Amino acid sequence: MGECLRRACPCLNPLWDRICLEKKPSPAPAPTPITAPAPTPAPAPKPPVSHSIYTALWGFESRHPDELSFKEGDMFNVINRNGDWWTARKIDKNGCVLDTGIVPQNYLTRAESLQMQPWYFGTMNRFEAQSHLIAPENQDGAFLVRNSEKENVGYVLSVRDSSRVKHFKIFQTEEKTFLVDQTRDFSSLIDLVEHYHTSGMISSCRLGNPCKRKKPPTNDLNHFTVDDWELPKEEFTLEEELGRGYFSEVYRGRWKNMIQVAIKILKNDSVLSHKEFQREVQILKGLRHRHLISLFAVCTSSTPYYIITELMEKGSLLNFLREKEGQALDMMSLIDMSAQVADGMSYLEEQNSIHRDLAARNVLVGEGNICKVADFGLARVIKEPFYISDDKKIPYKWSAPEAISHGKFSIKSDVWSFGVLLYEITTYGSIPYPAYSNEETYIQVTGGYRMPIPPKCPEFIYQLMLKCWSANPDDRPSFRIVKSELDNSYELESQT
Ligand code: ADP
Repeated sequence: MGECLRRACPCLNPLWDRICLEKKPSPAPAPTPITAPAPTPAPAPKPPVSHSIYTALWGFESRHPDELSFKEGDMFNVINRNGDWWTARKIDKNGCVLDTGIVPQNYLTRAESLQMQPWYFGTMNRFEAQSHLIAPENQDGAFLVRNSEKENVGYVLSVRDSSRVKHFKIFQTEEKTFLVDQTRDFSSLIDLVEHYHTSGMISSCRLGNPCKRKKPPTNDLNHFTVDDWELPKEEFTLEEELGRGYFSEVYRGRWKNMIQVAIKILKNDSVLSHKEFQREVQILKGLRHRHLISLFAVCTSSTPYYIITELMEKGSLLNFLREKEGQALDMMSLIDMSAQVADGMSYLEEQNSIHRDLAARNVLVGEGNICKVADFGLARVIKEPFYISDDKKIPYKWSAPEAISHGKFSIKSDVWSFGVLLYEITTYGSIPYPAYSNEETYIQVTGGYRMPIPPKCPEFIYQLMLKCWSANPDDRPSFRIVKSELDNSYELESQT
């Protein structure tokens, strides 16, 4: 590990030397004469908190007196790893403590690890990789290594080649070596990258500089809001309206004039039960996934209620698909977006949670075309009272027959809705069952009718839709299966 650390970060050598010296056993003490009085034992030095040194990938401005501000490259000893916010000591190159406080863990990485490499970007899909590499600060040959989101792929080397990005699968042999072509294997990813960086060519592209990194958002407003989600409305400022639905108006806004957020203002809160609402929010606290919208806070001390979430720049998937950027996507990209939604839903499935209103309008799109499922969890408390009071608002065309007829919502009724979402995605945002009204759709579907294959939709996607629309909920696949079927359509460059 020491060698790895020295290689990964030569500037840490003095610190590493100190740690190694501390660990060396001290020489055996000289024998003490039996007659001499026993010396008072010196107090044992406190063991260091952790030998692992962490370094900051980005700078961070503290938002609370307990938090630490830091710059990219600052080093830390972690004292307490608690959820997304860790307590850490900021240290200098000699290991002296400069300050102690709370830091967002996703801004830190272990100094001696793969994560420390400037080109390693962790778990990421091809779209995010493309969005990073195509950014103007990167040139031809810019590259990164990522861990694919897809179960069967593993590490991928993504390289910018003029205006496009090529993705190469990195194979791992049984002997735990790494290779991108059959001619050479390497004992580590670091060696592999070094080789292709200094002397090699991969296909037609050469590895240039590591891709420049974009700063990620934190998962909470600050460490305090991890446990305390009720915040005063006065802390939020509203900017422009982003959209509106049956239940809310949504604004771009800021928390404490600092952090960008989306603010959802609920209409008609009078029908909502405050207690039930709070209970659902408690459950939502536990649900965290890269393909689910992060809920930051709620303001429910007065009406209208506010729900504060992360901001997704490209808005709803439905609008995105209908506009220029979505219309330009190829089928492969559309399938990848479907797989992201299935990934978020597969997490909800694992957590025994259900959505109840899965549809393209409730999926949001962010930078790098990352898709996140929105509105999960709260559908029952926010939407059901409206559905009951106004029948027209039931999303008939997305709902499984048993959900409409008997109110039987389950993860398998969500799978039915996912089939309809697949239809929306593969038709760039068309309305399902275009020839039928809501009521006619229900009658047709319970009579066995299913929508025909959309033009350009691959046969295997259509077969998946049909499985999602099995009349018997038990015959529908789980989201885990849906995701793995979508993953199997993945295409990578071959190294020639
Ligand atoms: P409702 O639940 O009332 O139907 P939605 O959640 O569908 O409302 O939100 C209405 C619109 O607001 C969406 O279609 C989308 O364009 C926009 N929107 C909602 N949440 C966000 C967000 N977190 N970031 C960006 N835009 C959002």
